[in-house]
This record gives sequence, structure tokens and C-alpha cells, in this order.
Amino acid sequence: MRRNFNKSERQTLYNAYFGLCAICGCKLREGFHIDHIIPWSKGGKTELSNAQPLCPSCNLKKSNRTGENMAQTWSGVTLPDWFRPREWQEEAFKIYEQKCIGGDEANFLLQACPGAGKTHFICAVIYVLQKLNYIDWAIICVPGDHLRTQFARDALEWKLDLFGTTKPCVVDDYDGEVVTYPQLDNGKSTYKQRIHSFRGRVLIIGDEIHHLSDQNSWGEGFTFAFSEARYRLFTTGTPFRSDNEKIVGEWITYEVTNRGDRVCSLNYRYGYDSAVKDGVVRPIVFPEYDGRFEYWKGDKIYQKSFEEAETHLEQSYCLQTALSIEGEWIKDIIKE
Ligand SMILES: [Zn+2]
Repeated sequence: MRRNFNKSERQTLYNAYFGLCAICGCKLREGFHIDHIIPWSKGGKTELSNAQPLCPSCNLKKSNRTGENMAQTWSGVTLPDWFRPREWQEEAFKIYEQKCIGGDEANFLLQACPGAGKTHFICAVIYVLQKLNYIDWAIICVPGDHLRTQFARDALEWKLDLFGTTKPCVVDDYDGEVVTYPQLDNGKSTYKQRIHSFRGRVLIIGDEIHHLSDQNSWGEGFTFAFSEARYRLFTTGTPFRSDNEKIVGEWITYEVTNRGDRVCSLNYRYGYDSAVKDGVVRPIVFPEYDGRFEYWKGDKIYQKSFEEAETHLEQSYCLQTALSIEGEWIKDIIKE
């Protein structure tokens, strides 16, 4: 939803208020502000019934009172003033800052469940690195076409213009691009060349990284294309285990558990338990539901139900599929 009023709305409001500030009544000058009567950050809409023209000084006083325009600063970069980071986003960024901005590490693995606000976190990181002049380009890799379109659209809120179609990318006009894993796999040399032409000053986002492994071609393509990139930020919905196949080679580390399993080391974890506590998602009671799920692992499709899933790993694949927004199962539950 847009935040700014357009030119004709400004003119309408100016006329309706006879060119005077709605609070102090002074004469409005060029560049007068349009105020959301119910603040935009509190759900106030961008429509004439929720708008009044104010002089800059009245608007500032009102903003301070309602907490509007209290822009956040991350790593010295002022974020857009509409962005109200969640607690986890701030915490996660502090760790990111320590490791990758202050420190010289390249890779970061974030676990965040659907609904946590992962897209905004990713956009904030792109935004900060871009403003710090650490990167010239960002490539966001997502599992499917639907997510590609959605990400490019959401990023516009951050004024990040991301190229997001299957056509050849026009580098000069954009801040970066969103690609699907299959698309990346088909054009891996092109992407490698692109990173090279930016002298590595690129941030790679690997979204839902558990789709990749050393032993499938998506994983191979990813590792081949992005070896020169300065920054890589990975996200996953659930911590993944590794038996013998590793997810994107050397860029993710694993810890060995007491039982001898290898599980990925997360740099920040925002799990379902915290999300339920924060009211981001509702707890779902599983025993009442069952169904069959198709999930991808490597290049193969598996079909399983919760009851058939024998190992922890299989259960977690079923759970990921079940909770995926694109899945049919969750839609059925929402309908009920
Ligand atoms: Zn005024």
C-alpha cells in the first residue's frame, strides 16, 4: 500500500483547507506536508479522508508526539522512517553487523519462519550495504516464480528496484535482481560473469537454502556462480541436517550433535516458538490433520505423510511442505 499522496491529492487538500495549515492556520508554502491523521505506521490509510495539509513545523511536532518518523539507524545508515523493526530483526542485524559489516565474514545463515518478516530483514540488509557503498548489486535467489514476483514487489517499498523476470537483465537500470534457482542453474556462467564485472561487490541472498545441496544441480550452479561474491546471506525455514550431502559446500558450517548427526550452524534463529510467543503465527495442532505431502530433495520428488515419515529429517521435510504458504494443505486448514 502506498504511503505518499500524489500531486492531485495534494492540490485537492490545499484547496479544501484554503491553502492554510490545518493545525496553526499559517499560510502553506511550497513543500507543505500532508499528514496521515491516523499515522501510516498505525494502519492509517493513504486517502483523502485520513489526510490534512500541515506546515513543516506542525507536522514535526505531531510526528514527535505520535512516534512517527522516528527513523532507525542501522550501522550508521538511516532506514526509511516507515520501517518499525521487530525485536528479532534488530537482534539479528546486530549479529550480522558484528560478523559481516564490522568483521570480514562473508556468510550468514538466518532461520526465520514464514510470517516473521524475513523479506523486510533482507531488504534492510541490502539497503544498508548499498548505502555504505559496500555493494553495487544484489542477487536474490528464490525457489519459485511466484516468490520472485512477490519479492521484487515487496522490495519497492524500500525503493529497491530489482529486476525480476526471465528476460536478460538490464544492469544499469536496477539495484539488483531476483532469480529462481532453476533460472540460476540455466544461466550460471552469466551470473558468475556478472559478479566478476562488479568486482565481487555483490550481496547474494539464498532464500530457503535447504533446497540446495552439493549433490543436486541447483546447489552446484549456486556455488559455481557465486564464489566471487563478497557477501552471502542464507535463509531457511528450519535447521537442516546433513548426512553426507552438504548444502552449498564450504559456505555453511555444521555441528555434530551427541547422536552423531550433523546439523547446520545458525547465526540467528527465529523459530516457531518465538513466533507464536510474539503472535506472528498461531500455534497449529497437528494430530487433527493428516495428509500426503510432496517435497523436493535433491532432484527427486518424495511423497510422504507425517505418519509414514520415519526419520526426524523426513518429518521436518513434511512439516516444511505442510507449512509452506504455497502448499495446498495449509490453504485447506485456513479454509476450515
Ligand atoms: Zn502549522
